[in-house]
Amino acid sequence: MIDTRILEITAELDTAENIVIVPHKGPDGDAMGASLGLYHFLKDKGHTVHVIAPNDYPQFLKWLPGSEEVIIYDSNKGLSDELINKAEIVFTLDFNHLSRCGLVQESLLASEAVFVMIDHHQEPSDYADYTYSNSKMSSTCEMVYRFLDKLRANKKITPQIATCLYTGIMTDTGSFRFSSTSSDTHRVIADLMDKGAKNDQIHNNIYDTNSEDKLQLLGTALKNLKVNKELRTAYISLSQEELDRHNFKKGDTEGFVNYGLALEGIIFAVIFIEKENEDMVKISFRSKGDFDVNKFARAHFDGGGHINAAGGKSDLSLNNTIVKFNKILPQYTEELTK
Ligand code: 5GP
Ligand code: MN
Repeated sequence: MIDTRILEITAELDTAENIVIVPHKGPDGDAMGASLGLYHFLKDKGHTVHVIAPNDYPQFLKWLPGSEEVIIYDSNKGLSDELINKAEIVFTLDFNHLSRCGLVQESLLASEAVFVMIDHHQEPSDYADYTYSNSKMSSTCEMVYRFLDKLRANKKITPQIATCLYTGIMTDTGSFRFSSTSSDTHRVIADLMDKGAKNDQIHNNIYDTNSEDKLQLLGTALKNLKVNKELRTAYISLSQEELDRHNFKKGDTEGFVNYGLALEGIIFAVIFIEKENEDMVKISFRSKGDFDVNKFARAHFDGGGHINAAGGKSDLSLNNTIVKFNKILPQYTEELTK
C-alpha cells in the first residue's frame, strides 16, 4: 500500500480553481462512480471541475448523477486538451499506469498540474505527486469514500455522491460477493445508504435495464462456452459477426465472463471478444481463490488488473488467440488443480 502524503493535498485544494478528473479507458461502474462522486464533492466545494473520460462508456451508467456533464475525450479532443492544460490539479481514478487512459495520456504528460492517483490496482506506477493506492480495497469508490473521510468531509457526502460511490462499490464487488468485499466495505455501504443512496433503485438501474439484443447475445456467448474440467477452466468467445448480429453496443458483454465461474468446480474463466475495428481481441480474465489472473494477463496477453479480475489483449485472430491460450494453459496445471 502506498499512501504518500495524501492529506497534504488539502493545501493544494485550498488554492486550486480548475480541476480535471480522468477515469481509465473503457470506463466501468467503479471508474465512473468514483469520478462522478469526487466531481460532485469538488463542485459543491466551489471548484470548477470537469470529468474527462478517455472514451465512451456503457448506457447502463448514463443515469449516474452528473453523467450529462462528462466530456468524452475521443469526440472532444480540443476542449479536453484546453481543460487539461488549464487544470491545477488532475485526479486520475481507478488506474495505475498513464497508458490505461489511452490518448489522454499525451495531453496529461504535457500538463503541469499536480497529479493525484486514487486506485486499487497492483503495482502502481509513480507518475502522481500524491498517490493513494491500496490493492486490498474493493474498489476505487470505497477509496474515494475513505479519501473524503481523511479530508474530514464525511458530512459533505450528499445523496448524489452517495449514489455514485455505492454504484462503483457494487459493480466492482459483483454486488458484494467477491473476496475483496470486507466488513468495512459493508460499513461504508451502510453509511452511503444513510446518506441517501437508494440500493434498490441502483441495482435496478444497473442490472435490470438490459435490451433484448443483449440477452440474445448472452445466449450466443453461452452456446460458445468451452469447459476444460481437468484444468478447472471455462472460456467464452464472441466473434465480430456474432456481435454485429445482435446489434452490439458498448457494455453489452459486461458480466458475461462471470458465467464461467458459475460452473461447479471452475476457478478460471475467460472471455475473448473480437474487436475488428481495433484490430485486436479484447480478453477478460476472472478467477476464484488464489489463481492470479493479473499475473497471467501480464505474462501472456499484454494486460493486468487484480488477482481475481484482469484484462488483456491479443493481436492474433480470434481463433489463433484461443489456440495460444489453450497452449499456455497446461503451464498452469499445478496452480489450477491444487
Ligand atoms: P475487465 O475484464 O472488466 O475489462 O477488467 C478487469 C480488470 O482488469 C479491471 O480492473 C481493469 O482495470 C483491468 N484491465 C482490463 N483490461 C486491461 C488491460 O488491457 N491492461 C491492464 N493493465 N489492465 C486491464
Ligand atoms: Mn475498480
